[in-house]
Parts: sequence; C-alpha cells; structure tokens
Amino acid sequence: MSDTIFTKIINKEIPADIIHEDDLCVAFRDVNPVAPVHFLVVPRKPIARLQDLGPDDQALIGHIHLVITKLAEQEEIADGYRVVVNSGASAGQSVFQLHFHVMGGRSLGWPPG
Ligand code: AMP
Repeated sequence: MSDTIFTKIINKEIPADIIHEDDLCVAFRDVNPVAPVHFLVVPRKPIARLQDLGPDDQALIGHIHLVITKLAEQEEIADGYRVVVNSGASAGQSVFQLHFHVMGGRSLGWPPG
C-alpha cells in the first residue's frame, strides 16, 4: 500500500489536530467537518479498505471501537453519534487508509445519502 495523507499525519510529517494516540491507532479532527464534532480514527497498520481486513485484525478493530467510546465521552457526544466507514471508491472513500468517521453534536438524519 502506498503512503497516504493519513500515513503522513501518523508519522507527524504533516500537522493535524490529534485528539488521541496509542500503539494501535491515531485519532484527529476531520479537516472538513460535516458535524460540530467530526473526527477520524485511523489504525497505524496500513490497511487500505475495511474490505481488506483479515483475521489478524480482529483485536485491532475491537480496540478502535473502545477508543471511539472513550473519545465520544471526551468530546461530549456520548448520548448520540454516528460511526461511518466508507469502503471503496463507489462508497465515497477518498483516502485509502482505513479510517472510522465519528460524527456528532447535531441531529443526524437517516438514511444517509
Ligand atoms: P473518506 O472520503 O471516507 O475517505 O474520508 C476522508 C476524510 O478525510 C474526509 O472527510 C476529509 O475531509 C478528511 N481529510 C482529508 N485530508 C485530511 C487532513 N489532512 N486532515 C484531516 N482530515 C482530512
């Protein structure tokens, strides 16, 4: 997998508003937020799409979801938020490093577009 802009953020080669870092993942605010709170949780392991996950990634994905719950508390959106993964270009994925969008702070409609 070639480097993406998120790889550069993880490696501190370009700046981002980082709100969490640990051995497995990094979370930072989306540069183009679609909700009052909108951050991305990105595994350090290079995985292009959700569809590219393998059996070895099970604990990683569980960890990321626990991080999301902690960050939702920290960002004061724990009462209601949405987690979205766009997997593949036809789903709207534009950065091919797996990332979890976390959005909250306003009423969110359903179904999404
Ligand atoms: P997706 O379309 O699901 O691949 O989402 C990519 C997201 O990354 C978009 O919401 C962008 O606004 C966001 N994004 C792109 N570049 C940056 C950056 N340098 N820092 C923070 N967020 C970014």
